[in-house]
Amino acid sequence: MEKNLDVIKSLAIANEDQNFEFRSFLKMLQISDKKLDSIVKKITSGVMKEINCNECRNCCKVSAPSLEKDEIVIISNYLKITETEFIEEYLYMEDQEANELSVKIPCPFFKNDSCTIEEVKPIMCRDYPYLLKKGFRGRLLGVIDNYEICPIVFNVYEELKQKFKRKKN
Ligand code: SF4
Ligand code: SF4
Repeated sequence: MEKNLDVIKSLAIANEDQNFEFRSFLKMLQISDKKLDSIVKKITSGVMKEINCNECRNCCKVSAPSLEKDEIVIISNYLKITETEFIEEYLYMEDQEANELSVKIPCPFFKNDSCTIEEVKPIMCRDYPYLLKKGFRGRLLGVIDNYEICPIVFNVYEELKQKFKRKKN
């Protein structure tokens, strides 16, 4: 199983076309969304047993979450600052049209290899890398984005390629 982040980054560039082709293949694949979710869930569980997030933390180093309105309240309370102070210091408007506020990158809450707001960390961080959620087929663009960031996503996507390649042959 590949865990080296430099290797994964290089392979993400080398495999870009293949990843998009495989996305198209999965979009057209004649199995139900439920069945595909269940296959992804099974592969993900196996991969997660082999990868220790505490030894990686790459998602915290290179990305940061968007926040729901109630999370702004919860985290600013946790930090004992006003919502305005929290927004000014830690957030930026990522998507003007969606009116969505995101944590600045690199994430200012990532210190000494851990999350300083672990108890109240945003749902996007708790759910990352989103492979156990329903609707895998509809989130394939995000999966390809995360393929270069997250060793779990990288290995799950590669295992899926192998699985369906074997089926085709
Ligand atoms: S979720 Fe992925 S990127 Fe984040 S720490 Fe775990 S393996 Fe690394
Ligand atoms: S809020 Fe915490 S878990 Fe989320 S990206 Fe920042 S450091 Fe990582």
